[in-house]
This record gives sequence, structure tokens and C-alpha cells, in this order.
Amino acid sequence: MRKEELRTPCYIVQKEKLEENLRILKRLREETGCKILLAQKAFSMYFLYPFIGKYLDGTTASGLYEAKLGAEEMGKENHIFSPAYKEGEFDEILSLCGHIVLNSPSQIRKYKERIRQAGKSPGIRVNPQCSTQKEHAIYDPCAPGSRLGTVREQLSGELMEGIEGIHFHTLCEQNSDALEVTLKAVEEKFGCWLPKMKWINFGGGHHITRTDYNIPRLIRCIRHMQETYGLEVYLEPGEAIALNAGTLLTEVLEIVENEKKIAILDTSAACHMPDVLEMPYRPPLKDSDLPGEETYTYRLAGPTCLAGDVIGDYSFCHPLAPGERLEFQDMAIYTMVKNNTFNGMKLPDIVLEEAGDCQIIRSFGYEEFKRRL
Ligand SMILES: *Cc1c(COP(=O)(O)O)cnc(C)c1O
Repeated sequence: MRKEELRTPCYIVQKEKLEENLRILKRLREETGCKILLAQKAFSMYFLYPFIGKYLDGTTASGLYEAKLGAEEMGKENHIFSPAYKEGEFDEILSLCGHIVLNSPSQIRKYKERIRQAGKSPGIRVNPQCSTQKEHAIYDPCAPGSRLGTVREQLSGELMEGIEGIHFHTLCEQNSDALEVTLKAVEEKFGCWLPKMKWINFGGGHHITRTDYNIPRLIRCIRHMQETYGLEVYLEPGEAIALNAGTLLTEVLEIVENEKKIAILDTSAACHMPDVLEMPYRPPLKDSDLPGEETYTYRLAGPTCLAGDVIGDYSFCHPLAPGERLEFQDMAIYTMVKNNTFNGMKLPDIVLEEAGDCQIIRSFGYEEFKRRL
């Protein structure tokens, strides 16, 4: 069907854009021999897992359900990290995952031997205590008091005995200069164990598919770890895989005025793009500009009861009217995995666009709201 025929709100994932990203990642794998996993946390549209699996080595999970989804729908390498595994879930995790990353000394004591006996590869998540960004403190696993990863002082030779890999995840939407700085800290703190490891996982947060990303420097980082320590290098980006590969189509319901013009949409920041409020950030919107740049400026807001359900201020070269459709950009990642039905909001349908044709993959209604309550 054509885009004009779609019911709003809906997420439209653009297969060609996704493929552009995947091609960049595949080239990196081929050039360096590193392995790249889809971190499902950012993008779990499993309809596309078989397609993504043609370009990447597998999936990584933050818990049992993501591990199960990766195994069922992609069926390639399957890794997992969790700050604390549940005893009752661990046997199933062992059956689903080849690489299991442990977070703390007590988790190592509890699970290391079971992982080895199952013939799987145990790793440890380390905290290199090297913060490389200050803008988003809630996304900084190296912040003081962090529960994510073990710091150097808490490790010992006895704990590391039998551990096969080192995992760190400290970046968020960053370039390879931050990776380079972090790798230095990892080598400085954990260098004595690196030669004994089989693999190292650089985590996610690498914005590899962004136009200003410095790939040659990333390649140097990968080669350095491969050549110096003989390690298999893994990357597990989430955002980079579906960056700029989807939109959120919405309709203007009403215009109200109070000091400024406010357009009420059939989509909500709180429900359908929670990172807009959590990060916070102003999502790009097609055919619009910053407030005041064009003649007609509007505040765009959701229809929920939350006063702060505001997406942002945007300007247009024509006045908005009820029934007009707007398309927010870069809405594939951290949207459908995080959305909710707060206030009885309908979940956006999930649509795949390929060669100009739109196919509805999932459609949601009243039942989704009711069933969870
Ligand atoms: C979130 C996360 C990722 C993916 O991060 P992106 O910022 O989406 O690239 C990878 N690994 C771990 C352990 C994570 O928590």
C-alpha cells in the first residue's frame, strides 16, 4: 500500500536505509575480521532479523527474553550480558547463548563453572572507570557508583581463572576517538589478563553509520587488539544498525492557542518516543525548521494528560491544519522497544517500506492496552 493509505500513528522502517547501514557494518567485518552483533535493546523488529543476519554475525541480549528472540528469529551467534542472572532462568540461558558475560565477582563465583561445564564461553564485564561523555549522565556506566562492570581493584587471578573474554560497554552515540581513549584505559587496567583471553567485546554506543564517524580509527583500534593480544574482537552496536532507518508518521488533530500556537498530534512523546523526554532531545521532523526560521511556528504535543508531553517547537512555511500528516525522523531505534499505552494511547502500527511500497507488519488496538492491566 502507499504511505498515504497508512493509519496513523505508525512507525515506518525503511528497508533501503537499514541496508545502507548494514552494508557499512558488513564491510567493516570483512576488512578487519571483527564480529558484529545486533544489540536488540535498541531495535528488536524481528521480522527483519533474517535480513539483518545476512550482514551481521548474530545477536546480543540483556536478558532471557531477548536471548530467546535472537535465537528464534536470527539463529546465529547469541551473546548475553546481565548485571545479575536469575537462578531459575540460567539453565535456559545456557541452552540459548554461546557467550555469557558476568558482571561481578559474586556472579563469577556463582556461574563461571556452570558456563564452562556447558561448553559455553564465560566473559566478564569490566568497568574501566573512564567516562568519555558528560552530556548524558544516565547513559554513563563509568559514573561513580555504577553497578555495571567490575572495577580493577575487585579482580584477582583466581576470579579470572577460566574466564575467556573481556567485555566493556561505556560509550553512547560516540565516535571512535572515545573508543580509542577507553581502550587505552582497558589496556592500562586489565592488560595483564588480555593475553590470556580469547575475545574482547567493545560493547555498543559506536555511531559507526553516522556520516562523521571515523571508521579508519575504529579499524586501527580493532587491529591493535587483534594483533597485540591475538583476540577475537566483537562489537555490539544497537543504534548504528537502524540509525536514520525509520520514521514516525502522525496526524495533526487540533490546533490550540496559549501564548503560542500548539498542534496536538495523534502521537505522544511519553508513549511513542520516550527518549525525547528521557534523553532529552528534539527529534528531526521532515519539511520543518527550528522555531522562528519559517513563518509559522508551532509547539508539537501529544494528546495525553501529561502537561509535559511536548515533542518540541518547530516552524513551517505554511500554517498547519487538522488532518495534516507529519513525519518524525530517526524513529526506528529506542522507540518500538520502549513504547507504552499510558493514558490508553494506541501503540503505533509497525510498517516496512521497501521500494516505495508499505507493508503493515504489526497492528495494535484496544486489546494491547487492556491485556496488560
Ligand atoms: C545498550 C547496549 C548496547 C547497544 O548500545 P547502542 O548505544 O544502542 O549502540 C550494547 N551492549 C550493551 C551491554 C548495552 O547495554
